[in-house]
Amino acid sequence: GTPSSVSAGCNIKVVVRVRPPNAKEQESNQRHIIRFMDDKSLIFDPKEDEVPFFYHGVPQKTRDLLKKEKKDIALAYDRVFDFASTNVEVFDSSTKSLIQVLMDGCNCSVFAYGATGAGKTFTMIGNPESPGITYLTMEELFIHKEKLSVEREFELMVTYIEVYNELVKDLLNPGSILNLREDSKYGVMIPGVKVHKIKSPEELFSLLEQGNKRRTQHPTDANAESSRSHAVFQVYIQMTIKANREIRRAKLSMIDLAGSERGSATGFVGARFKEGANINKSLLALGNCINSLADGLRHVPYRDSKLTRLLKDSLGGNCHTIMIANVSPSSIHYDDTYNTLKYATRAKNI
Ligand code: ADP
Ligand code: MG
Repeated sequence: GTPSSVSAGCNIKVVVRVRPPNAKEQESNQRHIIRFMDDKSLIFDPKEDEVPFFYHGVPQKTRDLLKKEKKDIALAYDRVFDFASTNVEVFDSSTKSLIQVLMDGCNCSVFAYGATGAGKTFTMIGNPESPGITYLTMEELFIHKEKLSVEREFELMVTYIEVYNELVKDLLNPGSILNLREDSKYGVMIPGVKVHKIKSPEELFSLLEQGNKRRTQHPTDANAESSRSHAVFQVYIQMTIKANREIRRAKLSMIDLAGSERGSATGFVGARFKEGANINKSLLALGNCINSLADGLRHVPYRDSKLTRLLKDSLGGNCHTIMIANVSPSSIHYDDTYNTLKYATRAKNI
């Protein structure tokens, strides 16, 4: 559909963020495979390079190692963020609007999708100078909490877990393997998970950083920082309306997904293959659930992976979802960028 039909009456928003070229990409002087059109559209693999590539202030002739026919595909999303965009800008036009939805008692989920190195963790967690959208969203949640405090009592609890190799692990309480349970009142539960009561957003940043450092990582041939775990940060909000003691619950899930690059490209064998296969399982299952929701099918295969079982009560129905597709602008990552944009385009059709 067109971008305008996407937002109308639909609960999924798909945005694309293109990170700035890194030093390696600049030095090797690769082609840019994304041209920004406006704040909602881009051209993937444009026929003509119009902007010269600057290196140390000098315009360069870009090297095109691929030399194949350009795809030159125009793509539209709910929002496209270019190199200059900050985490605050991404937050302002993505997750900020979810707070009202949560206040109304609906669950929300936010995904950062993309290959390793594409900018998922920068977007979600960021750094102390440029806090990511998880922190900024929590800050906004506290603003709303204060505003509503005359009429509502709030209880906020957070958890931070990872799904690694189809196992659920607690990033705030290392060592334990957790199970999932479905509860008629609370939805999907994780018995035994470490729950933090949060009084201010400041408490949160170090918690997020600590947890993020504990994510299971394996150096691989392709990328030493490659991450095969899905990090899931969840906020459980319980609101008691003072006038009538009505209790309203909502859950926000923010997920830094495992790298979407293909396992085969990183050249691992044996035990690692299963690891890769399982990551693909959760990403694949997420894609299949989103496709089923997009097609309006009654059966959504939530049970196909741990990640989709965990998010069963936060996808579809009245839930609001934001998919942030992170990509590199450089032709070095041509296939990853192309695949991520295709995934994002499919999700957009819900
Ligand atoms: P991923 O989590 O997808 O593997 P990262 O978020 O770790 O990728 O990003 C890879 C590198 O690029 C990091 O050094 C990060 O700081 C940097 N980076 C990513 N996105 C941006 C951005 N929008 N602006 C500046 N630097 C970025
Ligand atoms: Mg990361």
